[in-house]
Amino acid sequence: MSNIIAIVGRPNVGKSTLFNRLTESRQAIVDDFSGVTRDRHYGAGEWTDKQFTVIDTGGYVANSEDVFEAAIREQVMIAIEEASVLLFLVDVTTGITDLDDEIAKILRRSKKPVFTVANKVDNNALLNETSIFYSFGLGEIYPISSMTGSGTGDLLDAVITHFEDEPEEENQLPKITIAGRPNVGKSSLINALIGKERNIVTPVAGTTRDSIRIHYNQYGNEFMLIDTAGLRKKTKVRENIEFYSVMRTIKALEEADVVVLMLDAAEGIESQDINIFHLAEKNKKGVVILVNKWDLIEKNNKTVKEFEEQIREKIAPFTDVPIIFTSVLNKQRIHKAVEAALEVYKNRSKKIPTSKLNDVMLPLIESYPPPSNKGKYIKIKYITQINGISPMFAFFCNLPQYIKEPYKRFIENKLRENFEFSGVPIQIYFRQK
Ligand code: GDP
Ligand code: GDP
Repeated sequence: MSNIIAIVGRPNVGKSTLFNRLTESRQAIVDDFSGVTRDRHYGAGEWTDKQFTVIDTGGYVANSEDVFEAAIREQVMIAIEEASVLLFLVDVTTGITDLDDEIAKILRRSKKPVFTVANKVDNNALLNETSIFYSFGLGEIYPISSMTGSGTGDLLDAVITHFEDEPEEENQLPKITIAGRPNVGKSSLINALIGKERNIVTPVAGTTRDSIRIHYNQYGNEFMLIDTAGLRKKTKVRENIEFYSVMRTIKALEEADVVVLMLDAAEGIESQDINIFHLAEKNKKGVVILVNKWDLIEKNNKTVKEFEEQIREKIAPFTDVPIIFTSVLNKQRIHKAVEAALEVYKNRSKKIPTSKLNDVMLPLIESYPPPSNKGKYIKIKYITQINGISPMFAFFCNLPQYIKEPYKRFIENKLRENFEFSGVPIQIYFRQK
């Protein structure tokens, strides 16, 4: 199941402004901690109880005139193929341009839902101007102002009606996907895993048309590998390679339980890797990091530690993640990587009995209680794990609204110290009792 909203449109209509608005609430928290540069064009969003991924297609177009239109045209086609819903953004202050018309022509052939969104409708006077966009022949017009946020609620109300519902679990096997930038070694890893054993590996037709699910069952380990790496189609415009690969990654990631994020040891961890990491984290997926091409690195007895430190610093605050140094070329630690991914899967579905949770956590809380607020004491009385696909804990207390972020972190650290949750995002809620 994947809910991907792609924002398409020519430059300057406000795509990145809208993107920021749709992702702001969930993004801000993580960005504040990690200090990541804001060069991301995809992120997680949430509306009512629905979660989704937003992609701003504009971020991938090079700005040279000659590739420009072709690149945009191709991008719209890729977005039609890969996204669940398309937002066709236009600008009410400029009216319809030739490029708008071109994009509309491609979108009219889309079988996916397309919403024509008139942006920069900052006041009621501009509302009347939006009727010209009916000439696209794409149905209803949604007036919004990305700047103020007005109209975006109505738009999202309509958009989420097109999301697929969480399907009945088609099988109970762990679903693992391998993500990473082009050339880090994803295809090589998949080949190393399944290559010569194809007779015991059966590709299973995926529910999503264009990701392959491979049933892996060797050496006592069994899981579904969601493979998009091997399916890379040729893009005509070179600038779109990254865009296409990102679309693929997002889709595979949404289907997976555990994301194996591959890095290139020679290049270290880069902002695009960190973006994938945060997306996995925000979608509550398990994560394992592989530092591949380890054979290319000149090593001494400090190298592993230095690499680990550098990576953990960049992925903070969620640093409790297995990091494994592999050389797919030399078949080094491939098996260990598989085992780590399955361990993370287990951690993600772990249920801690309530009595054990309280026995361990209450004394720790007692010896380091939440700081009092305005002279009021905060008392945590009882803890329970909430049922869900990833670990969630409810801490029942008298004044939940007074518990601050640092104390939440303390609690999370203690949970991680006492119960194994390596590679798994944890959610903690404080509730009134
Ligand atoms: P993109 O190239 O499509 O990503 O467009 P940007 O998001 O960079 O926006 C282009 C310009 O339009 C910027 O100067 C924005 O501040 C402005 N803009 C975006 N949304 C609105 C809006 O709702 N109202 C107004 N008045 N300006 C907007
Ligand atoms: P993908 O784009 O992520 O699927 O990457 P590929 O699997 O196509 O690998 C890109 C290149 O890196 C190929 O030339 C591989 O042979 C090479 N490669 C993959 N793994 C390793 C490794 O562990 N060490 C070295 N030195 N090269 C590797």
